[in-house]
Amino acid sequence: MRYQRPRGTNDILPDDTPLWNRVEETFRTLCKHYGYHEIRTPIFEDTDLFTRSMGEHTDVVSKEMYTFTDRGGRLITLKPEGTAPVVRAYVENNLAAQGGVSKLYYITPIFRYERPQAGRYRQAHQLGVEAIGSQHPALDAEVIALAMHFYREMGITRLSLVLNSVGCPVCRPVYRERLREFAKPFVHELCDACQTRFDLNPLRMLDCKRERCRTLLHDAPDIIESLCEECRTHFDALRAYLDALQIPYVVDKHLVRGFDYYTKTAFEIVSDALGAQNALGGGGRYDGLVEEIGGPPTPGIGFALGIERAIIVLKELGLAQAKRETVDVFVAALGEDATLPALQLLQALREAGMSAEMDYQRRSLKGQMKLADRLGSRITLMLGEEELAQGVVTLRDMVTKEQRFVPVDDVVPQVIRALQPEHA
Ligand code: AMP
Repeated sequence: MRYQRPRGTNDILPDDTPLWNRVEETFRTLCKHYGYHEIRTPIFEDTDLFTRSMGEHTDVVSKEMYTFTDRGGRLITLKPEGTAPVVRAYVENNLAAQGGVSKLYYITPIFRYERPQAGRYRQAHQLGVEAIGSQHPALDAEVIALAMHFYREMGITRLSLVLNSVGCPVCRPVYRERLREFAKPFVHELCDACQTRFDLNPLRMLDCKRERCRTLLHDAPDIIESLCEECRTHFDALRAYLDALQIPYVVDKHLVRGFDYYTKTAFEIVSDALGAQNALGGGGRYDGLVEEIGGPPTPGIGFALGIERAIIVLKELGLAQAKRETVDVFVAALGEDATLPALQLLQALREAGMSAEMDYQRRSLKGQMKLADRLGSRITLMLGEEELAQGVVTLRDMVTKEQRFVPVDDVVPQVIRALQPEHA
């Protein structure tokens, strides 16, 4: 093999695309029901957009971005996440002028230079929503309900919703100091990354995956207890809404999410059907982000769900069988003289709205019938010397095995009739 796909990327082959489509279609349908509209933004953006919004000390920005200088000398980054681009588009296109809450959804690839392993890739794909323009906790509840509905609709069980509040610019600095105070006595026992986090981004110590750090930070102060009045009221209201909607959740004081722009609500959906990378998706509120990106102060909330991880769980739970795609009609051409009329027939059938296929490898009749079987065709049309001479086609019902001559001019309507359910 001369070429291989780049490390950490996947080819999504025809055996898998029906499942991918089912995932995406389910998400699109639900977004429609919840009043979200699709937005598509470029694959790359100015690097600064991500550095500013996600925070330069986050893992993604400091270690994982695919960044390059283009021929015009601009610093460009392949999008490592979907929120900042959507918010940039919201501000740039003045979507606020449409009034109300902008409810947007997207399906996008993301790029992160991570160490590849099961469920973690350098190109991954996300389903996401952003609801921009309200700080009402009912919107948080709606966004979370949509994510959970999606998994339920796909039949995915064995998951749980983990919830926390990461506070706001008023109360978070206070908590950050409390956390530093707590960790100060054992900071040298933490991993190197956490020692850096201690200085630059202490909340991120809380979701370090290393056993040693987890143990040391197990009894860290609870952020919920440090929340200001406004953040606490918001969190309580959201919990009451989730309870009323019968959406179960667990509060985890260690859940902080990776990016700096989160405020108040943070949530993650995890599954024990996944390995070490157990997060199916996550999201949260970002009430300062629109302003950070250059718009007027505008609150927002959203989530991103990993498609690859949803598919891993679907397979793990035995829910990945997609319906086999079959063709309606197979056209068997016997001999070179039959090729052109067969091609015309094929075209007529397709233009009449049927799926139709023929052989392009000069197979024998037996070989073509085998192919018709393999493609699951309901009807096979045969065109040989005799049929050509008489201006007819042999129509064979592949289920009943009945066959008859049909005049060429009448083939399409007769096939349509034969494909009707009462003939099935
Ligand atoms: P994040 O915003 O980083 O929490 O990403 C949201 C979701 O996207 C995660 O829970 C994963 O399901 C998925 N995801 C993020 N990064 C990757 C990756 N490198 N490979 C596969 N899936 C990913």
